[in-house]
Amino acid sequence: MDTLWDQGWYRFARRLDSPNFGPRPANAVVDLIVIHSISLPPAACEADYGGGYVQQLFTNTLDWDAHPYFETIRDQKVSAHFLIERTGALWQFVSCYDRAWHAGQSSYTNKQGVIKNNCNDFSVGIELEGVPGETFTDAQYESLSSLNAALSHVFKEIDFVGHEHIAPCRKDDPGSGFDWARLKRAFG
Ligand SMILES: [Zn+2]
Repeated sequence: MDTLWDQGWYRFARRLDSPNFGPRPANAVVDLIVIHSISLPPAACEADYGGGYVQQLFTNTLDWDAHPYFETIRDQKVSAHFLIERTGALWQFVSCYDRAWHAGQSSYTNKQGVIKNNCNDFSVGIELEGVPGETFTDAQYESLSSLNAALSHVFKEIDFVGHEHIAPCRKDDPGSGFDWARLKRAFG
């Protein structure tokens, strides 16, 4: 028995199945982790986080009328494989074997210089609860580094990018408050 994984589900994450996923293309090799940030509604201070709305968004159960901001994302069907809350709590919505809907139209140039589009096909998406430009918590970095270590057991040769790097005209997450050097130090 694999002590870390069950069919692409991480045993140490809280599982909450999203209907928003599909199969990866045949022969897709997962070699990319996309770091995102998300906050619903966008938090103005630390106390605003943790309302559970991201989990509702990813499971198509968000009440679009509950907050004026939700109107701007009405009817979006999205998901990520993982969400890490400010407390470090880790959630999983889609098996890593499947294709979650987190990156949208996107393009990644790998270390060999090959340009690959549609990053959802070959990536794992991790959302950190937060607002672009703001920093993230120590608990989030700790959860993220354990998760990355576990992912490296399943997927070899993984690279890390931000959503802002693969969709630069559309996206600015996770933003300047994310400490890439810290991620790379933790991952080795
Ligand atoms: Zn994003």
